[in-house]
Amino acid sequence: MCKKLIILKFFLLFIPVFLNGQIRVRLFTSKAPESVVFAVTEGRYVISDYNNESVVVSAGEHAVLSKFNDMVAVKARNSGGLLCDSVLIKGVSGNDGFSLRIFGNNPITQFYNGDLECIPDLGTLLLINISDIEKYIAGVVKAEGGSGKNIEYFKSQAVLARTYMYRHMNRHILDRYNLCDDTHCQVFFGVTDDTMIIRSANETKGLVILDKNNFPVISAFHSNCGGETSTPENVWLFNPPYLKKVTDPYCTSSRSATWQKSIEYNEWVSYLNNMGYTGGSTNPSVFNFAQATRASDYRVGSFTIPFRLIRTDLNLRSAFFSVSVNGDSVLLKGKGYGHGVGLCQEGAMVMAAKGYNFRQIIDFYYSGVTIADIQKASTNNTK
Ligand SMILES: [Zn+2]
Ligand SMILES: [Zn+2]
Repeated sequence: MCKKLIILKFFLLFIPVFLNGQIRVRLFTSKAPESVVFAVTEGRYVISDYNNESVVVSAGEHAVLSKFNDMVAVKARNSGGLLCDSVLIKGVSGNDGFSLRIFGNNPITQFYNGDLECIPDLGTLLLINISDIEKYIAGVVKAEGGSGKNIEYFKSQAVLARTYMYRHMNRHILDRYNLCDDTHCQVFFGVTDDTMIIRSANETKGLVILDKNNFPVISAFHSNCGGETSTPENVWLFNPPYLKKVTDPYCTSSRSATWQKSIEYNEWVSYLNNMGYTGGSTNPSVFNFAQATRASDYRVGSFTIPFRLIRTDLNLRSAFFSVSVNGDSVLLKGKGYGHGVGLCQEGAMVMAAKGYNFRQIIDFYYSGVTIADIQKASTNNTK
């Protein structure tokens, strides 16, 4: 039987923050799988249980990893299998890739590079991919970058994703990995074979956005700002100087530039009542509110409520909308999609199509920042 993971846990608490070209990403975070099929797509892997027992799996072969009590059971062809506290699956050919398939209502198969750790954790398998950083960045750009057509747009996304990665690399460090693959960190569905996106990561290798103190910025982005980005204090509780409001002429003809939603008048008043409004509804016009430029609060007489709260409660596409009463209904006429802070993706796509490069795109949405190699970052957190 193999050793407990105490030594491993101790070591991982002290992972050097400089990542040495690799990042530890938790996979299938929201799915909490109890078993997974590991299949080698390229090269050769050794599955080892930290106690000198091992199984070799080559391209075209697979192994099934399952939670068994509080252990991991490994079953592979031509092998008696392993039962262990954890396993490390390490590529040994120098050019190794694998897929993972999980089951359930909708089976999912995703592709990865690098190595894999598999550890039982609170009733599920904790799957940690030790991935090449730039392949991870390309995967994030594929998952989060939308349908851009120009490489300079994707380069801007790659720099944002890399900035996020370095800024948050210790987010899950006590859980034995750097980042999860869910919206909590950055969405990552595995590596991509999109050559333009792969180039966008490789051609910006190491580059991040630094603030005046050479600290990686909060690299916020959203789908469409509706013509004006939002200052973060409308959304969060902080207000860094590089996230200023920007008037954006580039996104206003894009897909997510405008939206509308009609709500029954009684429903609107009832919602406001629930939120503390006590002024009654005798004069419907009091509920009209024009948001020509972004405002933080909706106002009816002396009653105010943050637009961002209405957006969340009513599941609206943005907090940038006007309110007009029209008979028995209330029309919400909105602009943009997302929180509006930082880079506007649809605006950035148009900028790239007009010939701007990724540095110009980032400079347009972030004020007073430097785009530089992560080695130039000055904090202890990033070196
Ligand atoms: Zn996370
Ligand atoms: Zn915009």
